[in-house]
Amino acid sequence: MESALTARDRVGVQDFVLLENYTSEVAFIENLRKRFKENLIYTYIGSVLVSMNPYKDLEIYTKQHMERYRGVNFYEVSPHIYAVADNAYRSMRTERRDQCILISGESGAGKTEASKKVLQYYAITCPASEHVQTVKDRLLQSNPVLEAFGNAKTLRNDNSSRFGKYMDIQFDFKGAPVGGHIINYLLEKSRVVHQSHGERNFHIFYQLIEGGEEDLLRRLGLEKNPQQYQYLVKGNCPKVSSINDRNDWKIVRKALSIIGFTDDEVEELLNIIASVLHLGNVQYGGEDSGSAYITTETQIKYLARLLGVDGTVLKEALTHKKIIAKGEELMSPLNQEQAASARDALSKAIYGRTFTWLVNKINDSLAFKDDSFNSKNASVIGLLDIYGFEVFQNNSFEQFCINYCNEKLQQLFIELTLKSEQEEYEAEGITWEPVQYFNNKIICDLVEEKFKGIISILDEECLRPGDASDITFLEKLEDTVGGFLDKNNDLLFRNLKEAMCMSENKILTQCFDREELTDKKRPETAATQFKNSLAKLMEILMSKEPSYVRCIKPNDAKQAGRFDEVLIRHQVKYLGLMENLRVRRAGFAYRRRYETFLQRYKSLCPDTWPNWDGRLVDGVSTLVKHLGYKPEEYKLGRTKIFIRFPKTLFATEDALEV
Ligand code: ATP
Ligand code: MG
Repeated sequence: MESALTARDRVGVQDFVLLENYTSEVAFIENLRKRFKENLIYTYIGSVLVSMNPYKDLEIYTKQHMERYRGVNFYEVSPHIYAVADNAYRSMRTERRDQCILISGESGAGKTEASKKVLQYYAITCPASEHVQTVKDRLLQSNPVLEAFGNAKTLRNDNSSRFGKYMDIQFDFKGAPVGGHIINYLLEKSRVVHQSHGERNFHIFYQLIEGGEEDLLRRLGLEKNPQQYQYLVKGNCPKVSSINDRNDWKIVRKALSIIGFTDDEVEELLNIIASVLHLGNVQYGGEDSGSAYITTETQIKYLARLLGVDGTVLKEALTHKKIIAKGEELMSPLNQEQAASARDALSKAIYGRTFTWLVNKINDSLAFKDDSFNSKNASVIGLLDIYGFEVFQNNSFEQFCINYCNEKLQQLFIELTLKSEQEEYEAEGITWEPVQYFNNKIICDLVEEKFKGIISILDEECLRPGDASDITFLEKLEDTVGGFLDKNNDLLFRNLKEAMCMSENKILTQCFDREELTDKKRPETAATQFKNSLAKLMEILMSKEPSYVRCIKPNDAKQAGRFDEVLIRHQVKYLGLMENLRVRRAGFAYRRRYETFLQRYKSLCPDTWPNWDGRLVDGVSTLVKHLGYKPEEYKLGRTKIFIRFPKTLFATEDALEV
């Protein structure tokens, strides 16, 4: 048998707190490397799970694996996302406290995959009844649908989430999942009309074109070639080797049915998707006067039919801007450039609002509808999977929002890990030694502070009549970004809104509300809306007990087996993992509940074997004295034993193996 020491040498330690040299970043990275090489992608820092993206399918997600983690204590099995899921579930059940699982890491690090594993774990292992099976199916099937409409290939990730997602899974008193609710955050709408080189539009467009049946495509007026569509050619990347659009189409189509979309609804939805493609192909010519006119009649014909709007009205709306002067409505003609951007604004608005409609629709189908059960009494596990931190050659408003969101989460992590650590010591009556750490609150303040934060300044520029531009904004920020003002304003000309309000498409009538036309209040800017929705999210998360999954991307090439040390060190740094470890080690490296500790090691002492009848704390005390623990090596809290040095626990673990 391989001795314990050489095994540890080869595969590293499964919890970073067991590292001898725990302040050394080199030792930290080395441990990650060892484990990665052995396909051990999961490692703990105490209760935080660090997850490396293997970029290959590992045989660690089978039903047998799920069974192995079910109802088993965290530290007794090797680290796994299932252990985190199970631990949250059991805490919810036993402590009756709502939980949330926060998954973070940069784009391509594996957040969405991790969140899917968690959902699958609950779907398979939680108790079920006939009704619950429907809920489980719908919860699972919401993923392919939302990914089709909200994910896209980027340079960083072939299946990159372009929206943030927070999902509540509701459980009844028996612990069965009975419902769910999704909140979506800021979809990257600009992708609908433009993609950078090597990137794609949202998956659904390619799925429909590649997978759509012939008569469906005929009805929608679409050709089976993505290259025909202006909105799909910008990135020059219609096919991706890791993606099978045709197959995914079938999966999505089936998922829509399982979730409960009627055939009519699917038809209306696809009419909208096809319309966006037709809109992209609407082209303009210029009169001598400079006014734009539409040169592509076929597109207008299709649009009129698919959207159920009058073709003439649509044409006028796509070439004019309605202005109200001295109480009179005037149609002012747009030039070619203005008309093209009005057209793109319409495409973005249609797609963005349809996405929100889709989320609402899924929520209707996930809502628990039994009177005997009040969803307020439900216990909840929340799952947060947002778009990861990203930096491109060219960064815009979207990256600003995405990265700001990641900063907020990091702040929450800092507050909650430190806070909960401190609270645990207090609750157990143990003295605490504070640790220095970088608090990124200053970064969040820089973005969101009233009056002087970036969002405030940005909004101010958007409100300023006349001479406000990205340049004046830039002068204020002394920074080097572009495109911000338009995206923040996110304006759609009134007459385009009016045209959409007239649509006979049942989805669009829900998306474009007539009341919006009479509402005189200035709509909130995109950044302010986002800021407010994030503030609400933080409130939701703060009210729950968090578990953390910190995902790391091993290389930029999306390749299995490649460990890019520079890239990984960078992530370890900004995720604050070393600080996290230091905090965890500042007092006591290890803590275990008395019953767990006794159960695991009772065979090592004749007085506790086979059973200890007295108080648990006395049993543990007897056991560790027998093992020769020195008084400075451990402390006994109210419910847990705290062990200062990992080597103490190592020795005890090794004793088990003899
Ligand atoms: P983004 O912020 O761009 O949405 P993400 O963190 O959600 O990124 P994922 O989409 O989860 O990243 O992962 C990217 C890809 O990495 C997946 O499509 C898959 O190919 C691979 N991957 C991630 N996690 C795993 C895993 N546990 N096993 C196998 N492959 C994985
Ligand atoms: Mg993702």
